[in-house]
Amino acid sequence: MEVVLKISVEKIPVQGLFLEFGKAAEEFPVLWEMEKGGECRFLSPIMVQMKVGWVRDMVEAIGFVETQVSIPCRRCIEPVELPLKRDFSIYFTRNMPELDAPAADEGTEMATELVGLFPFAGTEIDLTEMIQEQVVIGVPAWPECDESCKGLCPGCGKDLNRGSCGCETETVDPRFAVLKKLKLDK
Ligand SMILES: [Zn+2]
Ligand SMILES: [Zn+2]
Repeated sequence: MEVVLKISVEKIPVQGLFLEFGKAAEEFPVLWEMEKGGECRFLSPIMVQMKVGWVRDMVEAIGFVETQVSIPCRRCIEPVELPLKRDFSIYFTRNMPELDAPAADEGTEMATELVGLFPFAGTEIDLTEMIQEQVVIGVPAWPECDESCKGLCPGCGKDLNRGSCGCETETVDPRFAVLKKLKLDK
C-alpha cells in the first residue's frame, strides 16, 4: 500500500490522530543518499508510530521511528547490524521564529531543529523531512562490531580480528607515548 506522508491539518480531530506505518528508506531522499554513499544500509522499512494533535496554533507529533541498520564497524569496517529506535516529540508551526530573518542561515536552521520545530504552510504537513531527520540522528555514530575489535592494521590494512599480519608497526599512539614518558619522568 502506498503510504503518503502528508497529513491534512484540517482533518486532525480534537482527540488527536494516531498514525502507524512503514516506509522504505529509499523513499526518504537523505536516507537514500546515505545508502548510496555506503554510510549505512537500512535492513527493514522505517516504521513509525505517532500521535498528532493540535496544541494551540501548533501541531504536536509524539512518537518513535524504528528500523534495523547495517553500519561499518568504525575500527574494522565489517558491517554491524544494529536496531535503531528513536523517540521524538516535535512541533509543526506556521510561524517559525526566525522564518522572516533575511536568508535563514544554517545556524538558525540548526537552532530550530534542536528545539524540535518544523515549519509548515497552508493546510498540509509533510512528514518526510521530520521522519528522516529522526532516523539520521538515531544512526549510531560509533558502531563497533565488538568491544574488543582489534581494527585494521595501520600498516597493511589487514583485519587484525582474523589474525596478526606480521607487520612490525609501532602501534603506540604518539599521544599515549607522551603520557607514558610523563609518568616515567615522575
Ligand atoms: Zn570491528
Ligand atoms: Zn599489517
